[in-house]
Amino acid sequence: MKQVTQEAWAKRPLIISGPCSAETEEQVLETAQRLAKTGKVDVLRAGIWKPRTRPGSFEGIGTKGLPWLQQAKKITGLPVAVEVATAKQVEDALHFDVDILWVGARTTVNPFSVQEVADALKGVDVPVLIKNPINPDLELWLGAVERIAKAGISQVGLIHRGFSSYGNTEYRNAPMWHLAIEMKRRNPELMLINDPSHICGRRDILLEVMQKAIDLDFDGLMIESHIDPDNAWSDAKQQVTPEKLAEMLEQIAWRH
Ligand code: PEP
Ligand code: MN
Repeated sequence: MKQVTQEAWAKRPLIISGPCSAETEEQVLETAQRLAKTGKVDVLRAGIWKPRTRPGSFEGIGTKGLPWLQQAKKITGLPVAVEVATAKQVEDALHFDVDILWVGARTTVNPFSVQEVADALKGVDVPVLIKNPINPDLELWLGAVERIAKAGISQVGLIHRGFSSYGNTEYRNAPMWHLAIEMKRRNPELMLINDPSHICGRRDILLEVMQKAIDLDFDGLMIESHIDPDNAWSDAKQQVTPEKLAEMLEQIAWRH
């Protein structure tokens, strides 16, 4: 594994941030620079291919956004993380030097897709984070971890992003904290990251969810940030500016 990725991977708490979606080169570069300036972020995230629940909304900028991330890394030194769901996406992400891959909640539910990603990773030493499936099914989550680990990936981590429920609830995705805790109990060696952005779906309760995750001894946080959150092309309601993120991280009572 690359030195910079190894260092970031070992950091606790590990803080991953960046936009839900890469939109334009300027947006990616400005977000990365403003995040780096806070000195509080270890990894830059950005969705390049967006698995939307229904068609018609922004489906991601695609491969053309990968050089923007490469450039952001060059300028800031931050390793970059991207979601992958197909063999071609894995191939493209690795071609453009993406440091950390993650499997999204809509992919973790599908063993065919997870296996395709796993097969594309054979012989590759890249860390992979696996989000919980959208439904509260621990076996599916475990199955995805096993498929990726069996491909020879030694650095596997978990992301808890909450679980879908029908109708309007306080959360966009119910945290069901006990499932994340049980997953960690069964896999104590795996890093467990909390994703408050997709749990909350809104900015105003982000901080309390972040604090809860830290109180429960999560290893890190993945939080979406955007230079102009209200005008983000996806997940506008839950994103915060890099400066707001820094302020929230300062408000947290850390355990260590
Ligand atoms: C995302 O991280 O932007 C995303 C699509 O998340 P999830 O897979 O958790 O819905
Ligand atoms: Mn998102």
